[in-house]
Amino acid sequence: METLDCAVIGAGVVGLAIARKLAQSGRDVVLLEAEDAFGTHTSARNSEVMHAGIYYASGSMKARLCVPGRKALYDYCAEHNVNHQRIGKVIVACDDSEIAALKKYKAQAEANGVDDLRMLTPTELKEMEPNVRCVAGFLSPSTGIIDSHGLMLSYLGEAEDNGAMLALSSPVLSGKVESDGIVLEVGGADPMTLKCRTVIISAGLKAPDLARSIKGIPEDTIPPTFYAIGHYYTLTTKSPFNRLIYPVARPDWLGVHVTIDLGGRVKFGPDFEWIDRVDYQFDQTREASFYKAIRHYYPSLQDGTLQPGYTGIRPRITGPGEPVQDFTFHNHRVHGVKGLVALYGIESPGLTSSLAIADHVAKLLE
Ligand SMILES: Cc1cc2nc3c(=O)[nH]c(=O)nc-3n(C[C@H](O)[C@H](O)[C@H](O)COP(=O)(O)OP(=O)(O)OC[C@H]3O[C@@H](n4cnc5c(N)ncnc54)[C@H](O)[C@@H]3O)c2cc1C
Repeated sequence: METLDCAVIGAGVVGLAIARKLAQSGRDVVLLEAEDAFGTHTSARNSEVMHAGIYYASGSMKARLCVPGRKALYDYCAEHNVNHQRIGKVIVACDDSEIAALKKYKAQAEANGVDDLRMLTPTELKEMEPNVRCVAGFLSPSTGIIDSHGLMLSYLGEAEDNGAMLALSSPVLSGKVESDGIVLEVGGADPMTLKCRTVIISAGLKAPDLARSIKGIPEDTIPPTFYAIGHYYTLTTKSPFNRLIYPVARPDWLGVHVTIDLGGRVKFGPDFEWIDRVDYQFDQTREASFYKAIRHYYPSLQDGTLQPGYTGIRPRITGPGEPVQDFTFHNHRVHGVKGLVALYGIESPGLTSSLAIADHVAKLLE
């Protein structure tokens, strides 16, 4: 059995950010990834938006980590040449009944420390987004877009420069808490047994399942697993939008909104549906509902201009009808296991918050 200082399980954007942070603070880090490449799950299947931090409940971990995380991420991208653009986003009310929700967002954003939202006049809206049908809207100038693969590559490079090692095709199959560390059984082509002083569970969709496979983590501290899939359709024509466009959100997700990638391609989505396993298959029967939702704010959408894009799955720990979860971090204070931090429910804005999440995890280990 090999003995290790620190294992981070899961090489998505969050695991990579944590590995970078811990390696930079002098820890010996091994990053264990089940797949044969890093960042192939949720970190490769999202909107690639740097969120301002508007919607999250005051004082929630999402609010507390998104705003500083976004600021840190802009600085990071500038310093490390990660492709990104401060493109801005317009949140729109399509009829008078949605205006109250818009006002609520502004108040919530201000409570979260997002101080740059600006109500737009009808003339400004027309000038800025002539193809969008709406009665009111506000601008979030600090919302941006980012190359998430480039970001992960940069985190990995810095982690490796500080001595971290990425082990691909190394799924953690099970484990056991012992008095002087945590033993992990790692599968793959070269199975191994590792004893680690510190373990970070950053396994995204599989985090609760993985925690359950480690004997000694009290079962009643591990949240249940739920999955909610989102589909993206892409627009085959040139972008009719200059910024990201978000209609007023529903309680549990942000609605079929417009994002634009760094290549200028328009994506609509993600929609929302509960599923019972990780299956990224694209359900093409959704097309009609996308046309309908998009025409609510973009009435000139032509028939035949949407094409299936991709799907992503939200790692949820609360289910249908329950309030949407917050980012959840368990250290010894919750589960009693020294040296273990488990991350659960790291859905949006996990990409935006990745640097702030890594800082938070480092503090939880102190
Ligand atoms: C549809 C959608 C849209 C989103 N849009 C945005 C957005 O625009 N902006 C934003 O900020 N956030 C967004 N998010 C959230 C963001 O994508 C996630 O918070 C982030 O990618 C989570 O990263 P992660 O590293 O925790 O998880 P993942 O990227 O899923 O990585 C987890 C890794 O753990 C590995 N793993 C699992 N089990 C094991 C095991 N037993 N052993 C070893 N490895 C294992 C997996 O293979 C995987 O590589 C979105 C999410 C979704 C679903």
